[in-house]
Amino acid sequence: MTIFSKIAAGEIPSYKVAESEDFYAFLDINPLAAGHTLVIPRHVEDDYIFNLDHETYAGLWEFAGKVAKAIKAAIPCKRVGVAVLGMEVPHTHIHLVPLQTEGDLDFRKSPKPSFTPEQMAATAAAILSEYEKL
Ligand code: 5GP
Repeated sequence: MTIFSKIAAGEIPSYKVAESEDFYAFLDINPLAAGHTLVIPRHVEDDYIFNLDHETYAGLWEFAGKVAKAIKAAIPCKRVGVAVLGMEVPHTHIHLVPLQTEGDLDFRKSPKPSFTPEQMAATAAAILSEYEKL
């Protein structure tokens, strides 16, 4: 099991943003911006997004699109940016990052913004509330 499988299963805590039977979205613990979210399939055979079977691949992007709409509604931003890296965690995930400028999608950003647990929880709750309206 990967760390992200354990997060999706609730075995490791996370700030949940949205979930469905097959997919899960939660705040990145080291965010580039408030509302930076990771979207994952609950179960993966392969950690490289372009190796996913078609159904999982299409479902993941459809779910991510809904989550992006919820983020846009909850977090003041110009756009929600998308990135797929997977350099660190071997479990397919899509980054959704609320953008004010293109620099907000720079993974080398230093220092990164920091948020209290209360701020993270409030951000996740705001996105989840918008997601549930979709
Ligand atoms: P990547 O694999 O896409 O290069 O980077 C992994 C991302 O997952 C990083 O942005 C990192 O902050 C985030 N991350 C790594 N471990 C955890 C974790 O245990 N919980 C959460 N919420 N995010 C994590």
